[in-house]
Amino acid sequence: MNKQYDVCVIGGGAAGMSSALGAVKNGAKKVLLVERDIELGGILQQCIHNGFGLHHFHEELTGPAYAERLKTELLETNVEIKLETTVLEITKDKTVHLMNKVDGYQIIEAKSIVVAIGCRERTRHQIGIPGKRFNGIMTAGLAQRYLNIDGYLVGKNVFILGSGDIGLIMARRMRLEGANVLGVAELMPYSNGLNRNIVQCLHDYNIPLYLSHTVTGVSGKDRLEKVTISEVDENFQVKEGTSKTFEVDTLLLSVGLIPENKLLTDIQVEVNPITNGAYVDDQFQTNIPGIFACGNSLHVHDLVDFVAEESFESGKNAAKYALNQENNHISIPVKPASNVRYVIPNKIKISDDEVTFKFRVTKPMNKGLIIVKQGDSVIKEIKKSHLLPAEMESVKLNKSLFKPNSQDEIFVEVKGVE
Ligand SMILES: Cc1cc2nc3c(=O)[nH]c(=O)nc-3n(C[C@H](O)[C@H](O)[C@H](O)COP(=O)(O)OP(=O)(O)OC[C@H]3O[C@@H](n4cnc5c(N)ncnc54)[C@H](O)[C@@H]3O)c2cc1C
Repeated sequence: MNKQYDVCVIGGGAAGMSSALGAVKNGAKKVLLVERDIELGGILQQCIHNGFGLHHFHEELTGPAYAERLKTELLETNVEIKLETTVLEITKDKTVHLMNKVDGYQIIEAKSIVVAIGCRERTRHQIGIPGKRFNGIMTAGLAQRYLNIDGYLVGKNVFILGSGDIGLIMARRMRLEGANVLGVAELMPYSNGLNRNIVQCLHDYNIPLYLSHTVTGVSGKDRLEKVTISEVDENFQVKEGTSKTFEVDTLLLSVGLIPENKLLTDIQVEVNPITNGAYVDDQFQTNIPGIFACGNSLHVHDLVDFVAEESFESGKNAAKYALNQENNHISIPVKPASNVRYVIPNKIKISDDEVTFKFRVTKPMNKGLIIVKQGDSVIKEIKKSHLLPAEMESVKLNKSLFKPNSQDEIFVEVKGVE
């Protein structure tokens, strides 16, 4: 007979561990956490730099130290943990197909499922870098894993494409390990990383940042030997006569992360084409009742603290669903408006709780006015300085501010302020 659980959480990173804690601390009796790796922690295990936990633990921790805190808390509960176990499939009626070398292929049943399986890095092929397939071109996160977990320095003379946080952190990391980092090129006219990382990883090490530049050529024999970058205009077209060539043996790509959602798309969960994660309500529930999503597999986060916070809630709601405490309030759609790329949640249930809208702006703004509206009525205005696409914004509101019996959509927009 299949084993039965109240909640099954898939993925043992910060999101999965927090979600399992949220479930067990809110009444779920039988919680299973499934992780395909040999240990819990997910991407945190390879992030040996500090800067984690300032909001959640009010301390500056490394990635592994952060993971250890969650793990310690988890081991004090009765959550069942299956390591080295991969989930191959889930179904709409909430069975989970998993496999490991001890139990083989198993199917378990859960009253609710939380998908917390992180994200993937975009590769050279997804951004169409021309040229042969020689050694020396890889994603920055992969290089980080090689260096921090396996102890291999992947190159001696390095160029980095993309100024997202992983690229910036790897620029500093490679330099600290003795590699020569010749520069970071960024397609956009502004960096896509956190401001603190630009200062601490590039400025402090005199690593040049080439904004509005992209890689236009790579050459070499068995291994990369040269990288050419060129300037682009406002339509991202290459400007003639602007190319620069660097002699390098390694090109690291930090060109974006994509939420991992195949387990969900296989069962026709609706996906937001902007985030590549599921459409969820304010309980982190997808369009399939009892199936929840959180963490980087829902939308890419810059700070793990927000992952932990959001995922705890998702686990709590999965427990409520499993224990039949779900309420049936009317759902109102939430949409991004001017200067907002996406908002999560995508719909909210009007009750007497609070809701936190998380969103990203489309361009950097020195000063902005965040406006939350329902239909034409302004619900809240918040002044904010320094809004950046790289930094997720969040606005917490009491749901009593919204019109309870209206189907008027909710909009989040940002206006530039002089
Ligand atoms: C390089 C880098 C640097 C960062 N730096 C900072 C920083 O300085 N400060 C900060 O606050 N945040 C930082 N972050 C962000 C933060 O660490 C992440 O947002 C967060 O840890 C993501 O957690 P997650 O659980 O959603 O995903 P992950 O950590 O990716 O966890 C997903 C887990 O799911 C497992 N899994 C996937 N598929 C399956 C399956 N089918 N079956 C079973 N298990 C599966 C994976 O093995 C993995 O363990 C950084 C992130 C990266 C990548």
